Amino acid sequence: MLVYANFHSHDESSLVVLAKFKSITGKTRSTSVRTNPFHLFSHGANTKYNVKVKFILLLVTLLLSWSCRPSTDVAIDLTTQNWIHGSENCEENMDPPIQVVQYTSNTWILRQNKCTNYEAPFLFLFIGDEKALLMDTGATEEDDIFPLYETVKEILNEWEVKNGEVELIVAHTHKHGDHYAADGQFEGKANTTIVGLEVEDVKRFYKVSNWPNEIVNLDLGNRSMKIIPIPGHQASSIAVYDSSTKILLTGDTFYPGRLYVKDWDAFKKSIQRLAEFTKYYEISYILGNHIEMTQTAGIDYPTGTIYQPNEHPLPLSINQLKALSKSLNELGEIPTRAIHDSFIIFPVD
Ligand SMILES: [Zn+2]
Ligand SMILES: [Zn+2]
Repeated sequence: MLVYANFHSHDESSLVVLAKFKSITGKTRSTSVRTNPFHLFSHGANTKYNVKVKFILLLVTLLLSWSCRPSTDVAIDLTTQNWIHGSENCEENMDPPIQVVQYTSNTWILRQNKCTNYEAPFLFLFIGDEKALLMDTGATEEDDIFPLYETVKEILNEWEVKNGEVELIVAHTHKHGDHYAADGQFEGKANTTIVGLEVEDVKRFYKVSNWPNEIVNLDLGNRSMKIIPIPGHQASSIAVYDSSTKILLTGDTFYPGRLYVKDWDAFKKSIQRLAEFTKYYEISYILGNHIEMTQTAGIDYPTGTIYQPNEHPLPLSINQLKALSKSLNELGEIPTRAIHDSFIIFPVD
């Protein structure tokens, strides 16, 4: 937000108070409060009254700009973020079942503990003025092992006290068991909608008439999400772009790990469309749902690994997405495995 108050009525030198703060997108903006110190202390008709009014206005503006400064609106650096990454011996694991990282004042990233399920997927919660969107519900059904509803509800309750009630939409990046296992925890809950898992459910909910070539908007209330169909890893795969944080979620289609390709041709086209999308929209991070690569180029952890002390950072870059697109084109029509530094193209039957 930008608060600009111009108090000076003469062209004399003015005092500029700059209060810099971060907006929710993490960009620094300036709050300028201009006033004229000479004018404030000059003599004339109603001088005392003017001085008082101007001081009060100045103070109110400064206070407003300070109180509007959201203390948590600094977008954290996800390239250095430390995630819970399991234990060699899970009986000694002291981490919570779900790591909750607040990315901005209205965005949360959750990671499931590897000791509850080796897939350790990431989940994302975006809150707008009217609706909250939870992308994925993780790999474990039971709420005593994986208390997802409770965790999300706690975040929402705190939000609602300050900002008013929101409807919760529980949606999925795609229909694989490690992304919708805890859907049941949200069933029958008030003010909650669970989006179905089949292509038809996804098309109907987001109102996509031309699947997979159409990109549609989902409005959370002053926060627009773009839904991008990207079948290939799985038939109902979608990517989600948040116009507020500029995060692009790519599910299991593009992440630092083994990119399992079920439908080679559809996958190639989806990656092409995704790469095209990044030409027109500003991207802060491309985030997938797992980490399977180590910090050593081209080396992944074996499937089922429960301890990843040196895992690759979660974000991938636009250049890496372009490299994937180029590689898929070079590989041609025949599904072929290809190892890259930060991901592995991995065709499956
Ligand atoms: Zn997955
Ligand atoms: Zn998957």
